[in-house]
Parts: sequence; structure tokens; C-alpha cells
Amino acid sequence: MHTRFQTKVSCQLSIVVPMFNEQDVVGVFFDTIIPQLELATDDYEIVCVNDGSIDSTWEKLQAHAKQNPRIKLIDLSRNFGKEIALTAGLDHSAGRATIPIDCDLQDPPELIPQMFEKWQQGYHVVLARRIDRSSDSRSKRWTSGNFYKIMGKFSEIELPQNVGDFRLIDRKALDVLNSYPERSRFMKGLFASLGFREYTLDYTRPERAAGTTKWNYRKLFQLAMEGFISFTSFPLKVWSYIGATIALIAFAFGGWMVFKTMMWGVDVPGYASLMVVTCIMSGLILLSLGVIGEYLARIFTEVKGRPIYIVMEREGFDE
Ligand code: UDP
Ligand code: MG
Repeated sequence: MHTRFQTKVSCQLSIVVPMFNEQDVVGVFFDTIIPQLELATDDYEIVCVNDGSIDSTWEKLQAHAKQNPRIKLIDLSRNFGKEIALTAGLDHSAGRATIPIDCDLQDPPELIPQMFEKWQQGYHVVLARRIDRSSDSRSKRWTSGNFYKIMGKFSEIELPQNVGDFRLIDRKALDVLNSYPERSRFMKGLFASLGFREYTLDYTRPERAAGTTKWNYRKLFQLAMEGFISFTSFPLKVWSYIGATIALIAFAFGGWMVFKTMMWGVDVPGYASLMVVTCIMSGLILLSLGVIGEYLARIFTEVKGRPIYIVMEREGFDE
């Protein structure tokens, strides 16, 4: 068993922020979020996870933390990616309620007081749903829409569409989430698998405050793959059906060949059919091997049991 950091619950509200090369936004972020937090409660903390930034993000964070004891810092040893940085932050959250948020202010902090109020009314999870994604490019909306459609078909859990990681999670739900040992951390899926009493707030997603997105289509594709493979087993199972169908056809075809040879004797030409069958079969075999490989690779990572993230430095936590 790997050991993960665990904090004692010691405040009402925790904000968890993964940051990767966000030097331009850090200042604006604190200036915007702190007044909103104070509207909700004065018993809060901000847990910032520096995800191996190579600019001055960490120094900026340290300067802010020095002035404000409510800002707590975690410095990861390298870039682990947003999902894992978020996991590290959630492990360190000490709040009775926790809200993960992006540092670029695309998740509007103005929602925080409302979310907090809903939590006080007894909801365990308060989702924030984008009703208008016009700030995203059309192709991004198209790919994301299709991803949710496919996931909805093949996965047992239901991923809410247009809901990001920005949501409020009660301590009860967060404790369950933090106990998940898996290394494939597709947060949206993990969040969705929790259940609990949910409430959904709607909002319009604004443009990034400054800097540029750290996602590209390759990374998004990897994230989508991660989500699909971690939360479905359909691609693994489908091969037994395909295999059975092909075997049946091959059987019928074999029978027909034997019958034909016995009735009308041997005729040699057969190159085309032979070639076609060989190609289709070897294609299918390679494809199915690839699918098995995808799952196997994940089993391999899980079995190695390496730590999910490595913390280089912590500031503001009592250990
Ligand atoms: N992020 C991170 N590690 C990464 C990439 C991104 O911690 O490897 C953080 C980033 O600093 C931001 C959040 O994840 O706070 C969302 O990133 P971004 O705004 O680039 O993604 P988008 O909003 O385009 O989905
Ligand atoms: Mg963003």
C-alpha cells in the first residue's frame, strides 16, 4: 500500500488549485477569489499545487503565502498533469467542503458563495454546469460532445455533460474519493462515480484571464482515452462477439469448401479469397491485441504501485 498525505479537518471551506506555468494569473487569481471566499465564510484555506512549473509560479506563490497564512502550498517534484496535481491538492484539503478550481478564472469564483450556501442546505455535491460554451472553439465543442455521447453509451457511470472539475464536494464524499487507490486519475469519472446528494448550478464559461491553455488535442485525446479505458470494459469484451461471428462465418465457409471440392473436384485459383481472409483476420488480431495492450498497460501501472505524485515541498501544513 502506498501512503498518501492526509490532513485533519480544520476549516469550513478548502479551495484546491492546480497550477502549471501560471505566473501571469497567480496575482489576479488571489485578488479575485479571496473576496468571494470571504462572502461565503471567513474560515477557509487555499491549497495551491505547483505542478512542476518552469516559470516563476512557485516564487509568486511563496510571496503570496508569506502574506496570507490561509494560502497553503504544495510543490510537486515535476509536471504530473492536471488530474494528478488535483489529486495531490485534494489529499491535502482540510475543509469540511472542498472546491477544486482552475487558476485561470475560467471557473467563475462568483459561484463559490452560492455553492457554499447549497452545501449548508445539506447537499453533498454541488455541480457547476456551463450552459454556454461559446468561448470554446467549435471543434473543441464537437469533440467534447462526442466524447460524452460515447462515454454515455459504453460506461456504467453517467458523466454529466458540460461539468468540469469545478464543483463543491463534501468531506464525506471527498474521503471516499481520496481512498481510491488507482493511478489512472480521470477526475471527472471518479467524481461521477461517487454519487451522493447533488445539486446543479448553471453558469456561462468566460475566456481565460491571461496566459494560454496548456491543453492541446494530443493531451485531450490522452485524457479522453484515460477516461474511456478507466470507466469501460466494452472494448475488451467486444472481441468475444466479433471472434464468435467470424468463427461462425469461417466454419460455414470451410464447410462449403469441403462440399465444393467433393462435388466438383479441385480448382486451384483462390488467391484473392485467401488474401482477403488473411488480411481481415490479421488486421482484427492486431487491433484486438492493441486493445488488450491498452488495458494491460494500465494494469501494469496499477500493479507497480508507485506513488501517484511526489511532493518536493509543503508550506503551511502542520505535519
Ligand atoms: N494544469 C496543471 N498541470 C498541467 C496542465 C494544467 O496543473 O499539466 C492546471 C492549469 O494551471 C490550470 C488548470 O490545470 O489551473 C486548467 O488548465 P487549462 O486552463 O490550461 O485547461 P483548460 O481550461 O483549457 O481546460
Ligand atoms: Mg482554462
